[in-house]
Amino acid sequence: MSTSPEKETVRLTSCPHDCGGRCLLKVHVQGGKVLRIETDDGEEPQLRACARGRAYRQRVYAPDRVRTPLRRTGKRGQGSFEPISWDTALDEIASRMLDIRQHFGNEAIMYIAYSGNTGTFLHSQLGVFRLLTLFGGFTPCWGSASFWGSLFSSEATYGTLLAGHTPDDILNAGLILMWGWNPAETVQKTNTAWYLARAREQGTQIIAIDPRFTDSAAAFAQEWVPIRPGTDTAMLLAMAHVMITENLHDLPFLEKNTSGFESFEQYVLGESDALSKTPAWAAQITGVPEERIVELARLYATTKPAKLLTLGAPGRSAFGEQFHRAAATLAAMTGNIGIYGGEPAGFGLPPVGLKPEAGTGLIARSMPGNLPEGARQRKAIHITRLWDAILTGKQGGHGADYKMAYITNANPVNQFMNSNRAAEALSSLDFVVVHEQVMNATARYADIVLPVNTNFERNDIIRPWQGGPYCIYMNKVIDPLYESKSDLDICRLLAPRLGIDTYGDMSDDDWLRDFWQEAEKMTHGEKLPDYDSFKQMGIHRMERPKPSIAFEKLDKENPFPTPSGKIEIYSSTIAERNDPELPPIPTYIEPWEGPVEAESGSYPLQLISTHSKRRIHSNMHTVAWLRDLEPHTVWINSVDADERGIADGDAVRVFNARGTVQIKARVTDRIMPGVVSMGQGAWYQPDENGVDLGGCVNVLLKDTHSPAGAFCSNTCLVQIKKYLE
Ligand code: SF4
Repeated sequence: MSTSPEKETVRLTSCPHDCGGRCLLKVHVQGGKVLRIETDDGEEPQLRACARGRAYRQRVYAPDRVRTPLRRTGKRGQGSFEPISWDTALDEIASRMLDIRQHFGNEAIMYIAYSGNTGTFLHSQLGVFRLLTLFGGFTPCWGSASFWGSLFSSEATYGTLLAGHTPDDILNAGLILMWGWNPAETVQKTNTAWYLARAREQGTQIIAIDPRFTDSAAAFAQEWVPIRPGTDTAMLLAMAHVMITENLHDLPFLEKNTSGFESFEQYVLGESDALSKTPAWAAQITGVPEERIVELARLYATTKPAKLLTLGAPGRSAFGEQFHRAAATLAAMTGNIGIYGGEPAGFGLPPVGLKPEAGTGLIARSMPGNLPEGARQRKAIHITRLWDAILTGKQGGHGADYKMAYITNANPVNQFMNSNRAAEALSSLDFVVVHEQVMNATARYADIVLPVNTNFERNDIIRPWQGGPYCIYMNKVIDPLYESKSDLDICRLLAPRLGIDTYGDMSDDDWLRDFWQEAEKMTHGEKLPDYDSFKQMGIHRMERPKPSIAFEKLDKENPFPTPSGKIEIYSSTIAERNDPELPPIPTYIEPWEGPVEAESGSYPLQLISTHSKRRIHSNMHTVAWLRDLEPHTVWINSVDADERGIADGDAVRVFNARGTVQIKARVTDRIMPGVVSMGQGAWYQPDENGVDLGGCVNVLLKDTHSPAGAFCSNTCLVQIKKYLE
């Protein structure tokens, strides 16, 4: 009897990593195997996947997938493990956790989780968060490596994170300033690049202000204005100076909608500190010619509507929050808030679709069987201070002496600053558990590694984490490979071993149905289809007659939930902190490891760490198709390369007091002199002398944050030498 081959089917899903997009993947499956992946090919604007999403098959079937639970057999970091059974692994984890809790308290258990999955309803860090909370608490981490400066500024200035426009509004702008903004690679909402291309075609003036001539600058901008890293605030202040002295600012708007402009004006004009923030002053600091600053100020003030677009990069610096506060102030000075084609230059969430709280059901108190009263976390540690906390504990001023790290949805050795110190810190702990899909830099430091399935191997719901008018049902495409399980399944198995009987025994489908029903209350007024219809459709797009913009009702009502009810150029909440490094008006503060220190110290080059189109942070680093897309190099200007005798393609060592990275040089005038750049996310791979051969930029970065908590990944000084073997 002959059996007919199973028919090829197509299943809709998305990828949940922290790239800034949420695209549609159409996965062709036959016989339980992924054959190929297509993407949205319907009407424009499509939710079209990038090369990373299209290469997802190689990630699912990666040779370095963790296949079984593993127990460490060699030194931490060495990468020697033996397979063990699930029962053995879970019993061992439970026994160590109970022992640590009994002897050192819950605070000795640190939970390190980050953005492995972002915007998903079910499979995220929240499953373990829930487990550890029910266990009696833990020490969590706080902060964001991406956009904390923007988030902080948006809350302080506008009182909300809903301070963005949907990308279709790009077509309404007369001028676009792409300030440290590179959506061609970082994606920044799935179809942003498509709208920028249309804007360019229709003749919109687009200018890129950036130390690098990025792919976005090349594709969309008519002009590139190179600027020294960490000095953007100085340039914005000088532009404000031009607007004030030439009377180009929108005084009626400022008077009606803002508070504290007078203090800012006094500071800009030098009346409060005897230093006028003139274009000449800023030119010295930024490297941007004085006349160009004047022209840009006039252009931005007189072209209406105009967008100053940014998300994270300039704010990922020593006093990064100041950049975002200054950018929002200029948006107010030009009256570009609450109008189509304008932009508040705040955190980019537009008022559409599901709000950020949708999908937090696993820890929301209203859910049945959820967290008990009194369940609590311990003193949180900023993600840049984790290694110091582990190594110095209470003596170093931290909340506890930490004994254990539980790590999921994150690759912190690689992605948080000072990787050498990370390796030292994790090596010093009594016990480290890691949930992982691949044997990455962090998994190598675990005592027990638990294999987690990929999002192709489970059902979930996802929304664009930067807001957007759609959500996708992420269909399970294939059965879990090898012995892998979801984080949630692991928690379900671990809970009873930890004496927890309230974790909940709802199935994934029950949870998702529940969360979806709750989500109806968490939209901006849009109706959602019922769960079964949504699941069948795979994608729900919300119809809108026009772009969604922040503060649209400015004329009719006061939309700013700040203490003054206005846009706070002088922030009363910041003033309450009474921190001289965090002034209440946007201020330029000379950064540590900035251009001034570069001129006098041993490390004369400013290093910035950029996003790469071949990785999503450290995800997909080992995917062969993507490696071919873009070699991992350090960019160096030909002037700096010539001084050092470096030719394109040479092996070089990039170093400072924190470490050394060996990597190939890309000599290019696409980066300004005095600045070098490396893509973040390449896997840390120290040799026996401690030289990182993997090209991990975090080896070089200082493990500290800005006064408000911004991750300073663009504040770093290095030297580069040609490496001769
Ligand atoms: S990595 Fe981001 S932009 Fe690329 S396909 Fe996935 S969701 Fe889309």
